[in-house]
Formats: sequence, C-alpha cells, structure tokens
Amino acid sequence: MTRHYDEWVLQDYLDDPDSVGDRAELEEHLAGCAECRAVLDELRAFEAALAGDELWELAGDAPPREEETPEALRALADLFEREDREASELLGTLLASPASFRRANITSQPAMRTAGVVRRLCSESRTLRERQPMHALVVADAAIAIGDQLSPERYPSALIDELRAAAWLERANVLRYLGRYPEALDALDIAERGFARSPVAAYSRALVDYVRAVVFVETERLDEGRRLARNSARVFRQFGEDERFIHAKIVEASVLFDQHRYREARDLFLSLVRVATAVGQGATLARLYQNVATCHLRLNELDAADTYFERALSLYRALGLETERVRTQWSVGCVRIARGDIAVGLGQLREARREFAELGLRSDAALVTLDLAETLLATGTRPAIAEAAELCGALVESFTAVGMTGHALTALAFLREAFAAGTATPDLVRHIRQYIESLPDQRDLPFLPPPRL
Ligand SMILES: [Zn+2]
Repeated sequence: MTRHYDEWVLQDYLDDPDSVGDRAELEEHLAGCAECRAVLDELRAFEAALAGDELWELAGDAPPREEETPEALRALADLFEREDREASELLGTLLASPASFRRANITSQPAMRTAGVVRRLCSESRTLRERQPMHALVVADAAIAIGDQLSPERYPSALIDELRAAAWLERANVLRYLGRYPEALDALDIAERGFARSPVAAYSRALVDYVRAVVFVETERLDEGRRLARNSARVFRQFGEDERFIHAKIVEASVLFDQHRYREARDLFLSLVRVATAVGQGATLARLYQNVATCHLRLNELDAADTYFERALSLYRALGLETERVRTQWSVGCVRIARGDIAVGLGQLREARREFAELGLRSDAALVTLDLAETLLATGTRPAIAEAAELCGALVESFTAVGMTGHALTALAFLREAFAAGTATPDLVRHIRQYIESLPDQRDLPFLPPPRL
C-alpha cells in the first residue's frame, strides 16, 4: 500500500484507538509501514514531552548562557520594568487616533527603540483589533519595524527574536481579522521561526497554531484546522491557560459543526461548560450555551434548544452584552416558530429587528426581516402576505438609501419583484436569505435566482 495515513488520523488513534473507524486496517498498515510508525512515534514523543515536567527545558540541555545567570536575569527584569513605564510615557496619547500615530512617525525615533515600546505596541494592537482593525495593523507593523531596530548590545538576541515574533503574531491576528488570510499565514510562518529559540517554544508554537487553525477553518481547510486547534488546546491546558484552552476547543467544535456533526459538536461544547464556569468567564459561558442550543436546533431537539438559548439570554442580559442578547433573542424567536408558536415567535422577531436597527446592525436587521417575511408568507393569510411584501420593499429602500449596490441589492430587488408578481414563496425568501448571509465571505458570488421547483 502506497497511501499513508494523515497525521490527524494517527493523532486520533493515539487519543483513542477506537475512535478511528478502521482500527484493524490501520494497525495492519502500521505493522508494515515504518514511515507511519515514525509519525506516530513523533506524536507520542510530543505528548510525552508535554506531559512531563521537562517542558521548560525542551529548548535544549545546554548550560545557561551568560545572559541567563541570575544576576543578568534580574538586571533584565529591572530594565523591562523601567522600559514598560517609559513606553507608556513615550507613547502617551499618540495611539489615540490613527492620524496622530502616523504623524508621530515613531519608527524613525531612536528613543522609541526599546523592548518596552514593542511590547506596548503589541498589546495596543490587540486591544484595537476589534474596533479599529486598520489602525491595529499599522500599530503591529510599527512594533515589527521597531523590533527590527533593537540593539543586540542592549538585549539578548533570543529575546529580540521573541519580541519580533510576538509582533508578527499580532500582525497575523489583525490580518485574519481583516480576512486577509494568505498574508496572515505568511506572518505566522515568520512568527514561528522567531519563536523557535524561545525557552517556551512549545507554548509559543501553540499560540501560532491557534491562529493558523482559525485561518484554516475560515478558508474551509477544516481537517487541518481541527488538528491544529486540538494540538494547541492540549498545550494551553498543560500550561494552565484555561481561557486559551477553551477558545481552541471552541474552534475544534466549530469544525465539527461545519461538518454537520452536530452531536459531537454539542458534546464538545457541553464539556467546556465546566471549565468556563470554573474560570468565571461569563461571556464565554454564554457563547457556549448559545452554541449548544444551536446544535440542538440543528438536531431538531427544540426543547433543549430553548433551554440553552434562555440560559445564554439571561447571561447576556446580566453582562450587558446587547448585540449578543438581541442575536439570541432572535434565535429564541426562531425556535418558537419551529415549535408552531407562530404569534409569539413573530413578536420576538419584530422586537429583534427593531433593536438591531437601533444598534445600527443593518445586515442582522435585514436577515431578521427576511426570517419574518418567510414566516408571514408561510401562514398564507392575505394581511400576513401584505406585511411580508411591505417588509421586503422597505428593505430594498433602506439598502438603497445608504448607498448600497451590488449583489445583495440585486437579490432583494428580485424578491420585491416576486412579491409584486405574486410569485414569492417561503422557499424563495429562504434562498435569498441564505445568499445574503453568505455574502461577507464570498463577495464575488453573483446572485442567481433559485432553480424552479
Ligand atoms: Zn504508511
């Protein structure tokens, strides 16, 4: 046999021999294939290294270099503390706006060339990522540029490598946030090389692999993404990093969900509830409940879905997370409708639509509107059909009013025509809704009317 087993199948086998469908066949192959046995040995060694206490010494058995003596390390710690203080003074309000940051042109100033400034820029980039990703990217790039100019007389070279790698990791994180995946993967390769000499190389590699996993999942490389997410989760757990562990496991479970393996996904999400509760991460816990509920919904287990959505809802309410609360309210409405509680469900969807509009979340508001229209159409009464037509007409107008053009508008205009001609059906509305939902990922996909049923 020339075809070998993939690494993740072997990892599955290592985790639980019975989890692979063709265990006997795999074992027979292993008996005769040195190559696959070598991969398995390597995975086993990785596992053993993580399980043992020698993790911190993985970087090598060499005696400590001069720069690693206790005195040198203490001096370095003092330097870091001073530099961190100076960095916040130096950077001050420069980071407040993209314009002031650009004007300051900090990469050309010798006073800025400290490890403290690089560290500060990295953490600022992380904070800015969600709200101002373009600004976050500029800040991460400044961290890279300054990292490249750090003096080897002032810092140990392994530390410079690690700081540079950390800056590249931030750049990668912003790029994946912006959907610039190939560039993100390039940045991750550079980060990984920089981390190679780190005393906690296994941990740093897990940080890199976690972001890679997210990129792979976003780009439909699901099996690779799942394997990396699982490996990085394992390392985070060894280091007692429970929050990172949960996030990596959520990526792993989301792959199962994307592969329509809803039962396995649900069980994995549920298994994380205990850890999230122990860590006291309310928002993560709420997200887990929401995911468990969505799995139940796909499995058509409506009672359980309802229970978990309600749990998520009360947590979001308590935490004041408005967007998530409204999104869950919307899901609760959909469950009510699926259970035949049409009037109550419609009321909840109308409420969610109003609140999304108030929050300025136009595309969510549009999707709820289409859910409303589909449900109204399905009731088949004349006033309900009239309301559905009116809702869809208003949607076209609101999209046009904000200057929106392109595929989404074409699809909605098509739907409005169908209402005018009396040919709109719940299936057509659902088709258009699915199309619009898929748009952010596939901007160039032109709208096609559904095939005639
Ligand atoms: Zn083989």
